[in-house]
Formats: sequence, structure tokens, C-alpha cells
Amino acid sequence: MKSKNFETIAIRENIEKSPHKEHSTPIYLTSSYQFDSAEEMRDLFTGDIEGNIYSRYSNPNTNELIEKIAGLEKMENAWCTSSGMAAVFTTFMALLKNGDHILSSSSVFGSTHQLFFNIFPNYGITTSYASIHNLDDWEKLIQPNTKIIYAETPSNPALDLIDLEVLGKLAKKHNLILIIDNCFTTPYLQTPVDFGCDISIHSATKYIDGQGRGLGGLIVGSNELIAKIEAFARHSGPALSPFNAWMFSKSLETLAVRMDRHCDNALEIAEFLEKSEFVEKVKYPFLPSHPQFEIAKKQMKKGGGMVTFYFKGSLEKGVKFINSLKMCSISANLGDTKTIVTHPASSTHSKLTEEERNSVDITYNLIRISVGLESIDDIKEDINQALNVAFA
Ligand SMILES: *Cc1c(COP(=O)(O)O)cnc(C)c1O
Repeated sequence: MKSKNFETIAIRENIEKSPHKEHSTPIYLTSSYQFDSAEEMRDLFTGDIEGNIYSRYSNPNTNELIEKIAGLEKMENAWCTSSGMAAVFTTFMALLKNGDHILSSSSVFGSTHQLFFNIFPNYGITTSYASIHNLDDWEKLIQPNTKIIYAETPSNPALDLIDLEVLGKLAKKHNLILIIDNCFTTPYLQTPVDFGCDISIHSATKYIDGQGRGLGGLIVGSNELIAKIEAFARHSGPALSPFNAWMFSKSLETLAVRMDRHCDNALEIAEFLEKSEFVEKVKYPFLPSHPQFEIAKKQMKKGGGMVTFYFKGSLEKGVKFINSLKMCSISANLGDTKTIVTHPASSTHSKLTEEERNSVDITYNLIRISVGLESIDDIKEDINQALNVAFA
């Protein structure tokens, strides 16, 4: 029985069982595969027959993960990579050539920014940034050599949204490939293909694993686009290990229930913070006070697991808040079962000037919380006591 329903695909999309009839897919730790004859080997290499040749090309565990994520994203095909950044890099390298141009939202993941401005120019690929705050300006930035529109929504860390329907129409009008980094929402909360997106990229490291155990990336799209990705990746080698592919496929079995709880906990934290006397403003897509609440409801099923708030008081008080937490972790990761709190102005972005930070929406009083799956009472209590220590 082939299901169209998310939870069933996430659990029942499995590769064929081995002769042992195991109920849970085993890990195929093999670098290569054996052929029955010289002719079979030849036909596999020429592509006349389908099958595994070498684990840089394919592996039963990556095959399962590919079928599963493609089903969940409602797209035709997918490819797995060794990290989220390998997925981003592979996608651009496979689809672009010297002289091409990318139009991207300026609110992108830090390493993606490094690719755009410190690495791609060496290969003749240029990027223009468009503001997440003004979608009307994007069309003016399209050049004759533009090939790709790229964005993340919700943005990190400010949790601003991009209207995917508007971007989808713009990409279609100009015959451009629209790529969305869908890492923050996962296909459970947002399926960009519904709005005309061509490729959805994931850092599987985050919610897809969801338990902070390993790195991986996924590229999801049409057969035609994934064929180009595959042609590049087979020979450049950003392959995902069978172990991690197995782990992510198992993790996807529980993605729906985990995301539901992440979202419920995050909404409760957002509502709690909104009432705090120490807090100036809270940003959470499913709070009615979010300026883009209507867009959030249009393109997201729930608000996600990330909450951002702006405290009242000095930078030093923000540092004190972070240092006063007793349970929540200080870590660069997100999308983990463990709640993680970061103060970008004093940590990841401390080397930038205040002006530079403001230009990427990181004000000194911004705190980002990746709300985990611990008891909501404990998460709330920890944040509450740290607020009181730092700001009272
Ligand atoms: C973490 C992250 C990446 C990079 O993924 P890695 O698995 O760390 O390489 C890309 N985009 C977003 C939005 C991320 O959060």
C-alpha cells in the first residue's frame, strides 16, 4: 500500500527486506557491491540496468532516505550529502557555471554567505543580496545571467518570513530555479513545492536527526534537476555515510510527533516571554503579534521550534542571562531535543561592529532559543529564573 500521508511515508517507506526479513532496516556498511558477471557490471556502469555499484554513488540506506524525503517533500527525487553545507555547495556547483548569477535573500546561514562572497567569485559565480523586508525590490535585482533565486524562511535568527508564493511567481516569470533552505521548518511544517519552489535543501543535522548526533544534508527536487546534482556528486564525492543515512531515516519516523511537540513548547515559551516585564518584543511566526502572522499561516502548518526575543537592558545583561541558565544549553546547534539558547551579539557575531550586526538583524538584545523536548515546565522555569537573575 502506497500512502500519500506524511506519517505513514515517514515510517513505511523502506527498502526491500534482506533474506533475514528484519523488521527494521539494517545498516549496509559496505563501500562496494558485487556483480554476478562482467556483463552485469558493464550494464550497471552504462546505466542500462539500475543497481548499486559503489557507495559514493548509492547505498541501500541512502536509497531509503532519498525515497522517504522525496515523498515527504512531495517531489520526485532527492540526493543525500555528508552535511547541510555539502548539500548547499553541491546544488550550486551542479547547476551553475562560470558567469552565472544568484539572487539571494540577505538573511542566509553564515556558511552560505561565505560561499557566496568568498568562494563562488573564484569560479566566476556572483551573488546579489535582496532584503527579506522588501520583496518588491527583488525583481529589479534580476540580471540577464541570473539562474537561481535562493532563500531561507523563517530567517535565522530574526524569524522573519518570506512569502513563498510571491517568490514562486517571480521565479516562474523569469524562468529561474527557486531554491529554499527548508531546514528550520522541515517538510512537516512547510512544503515549498506547493508554492512553485524547485529545490528544497535540508541540513539533516538539525530537526531531521533531531537528537544532535550527526551531520548530513538533503537536496530534494525534480528528476531532471536531481540528475544534474547526481552527475556532479557522483564524481566530486560529498557522499553521506550509510550509518548517518540509516540514522536519519529512523529519525524521520518520529519527525511528525517531535515537530508537534517542538511547536507546542515553542509557542508556550513565546507566549510566556511576551508577558515578561523584562522582554521588549518576541518573534514567533504563530504569535498573532508577528508582523507576518498571515503569511505564516498560509505557508506553515505550525510555528516551528525556534523563538527569538529582544530583552530590555544592556548587552552585559544579555550575557548574564545566558550565564544564569541552569538547564538550557549554550551551543551553536539547533533543532535538538535539548533546549539551546544563544546570544548572537556576544558569541557567534561578536566580531562584527554593531552596525554590521544590525544590518543582518542581530541587535545586541536578541536572544535565540531552539526550544527542545524537555518538560515545558522545566524549560519555562529555567528561562524565568535566568531572566530574574539578569534583569531584576
Ligand atoms: C545548520 C544549517 C546549515 C548547514 O548545515 P550543516 O549540516 O551544519 O552543514 C544550512 N542552513 C541552515 C538554515 C542551517 O541551520
